[in-house]
Amino acid sequence: MFEFIHKKKEQPTYSSVSLQIRSYATSNRESPEWQLELIVDGQTLSVDEFDHLDLDCFEAAIDTPGRHLVWNCSCGTPACAGIYEAVKSTPQGELVRWELLDHQRDHRFRRADLRTVLRRARLSMQKLSEIDWKLPT
Ligand SMILES: [Zn+2]
Repeated sequence: MFEFIHKKKEQPTYSSVSLQIRSYATSNRESPEWQLELIVDGQTLSVDEFDHLDLDCFEAAIDTPGRHLVWNCSCGTPACAGIYEAVKSTPQGELVRWELLDHQRDHRFRRADLRTVLRRARLSMQKLSEIDWKLPT
């Protein structure tokens, strides 16, 4: 008896990722404040309104296994923004698994996608910092 086994090549499944910059006006006529938000599979991820995406930790979490404070409070105390467990990173070849413990989510990303997002975010933040926001008096 002849048995034909069709072995399907396993496709790597990964989530789409992008970053958006949200601005909010400050009351004292100084430069606006910026908040980076990570969008995963079309959904904006944040912990609470005071959270802050740390791009240096974001970069470390692409290649270095372990826990990274990708999100933090802008004051530097993670618990202040509801962050207790950080992101557990496990690089797997061209992918990296991020267990977003504070968000109770588990995703795989293409490491190349994360690098692209990081590069664009740094460039945008740099450009924003070069603008003179002072209003004429
Ligand atoms: Zn804080």
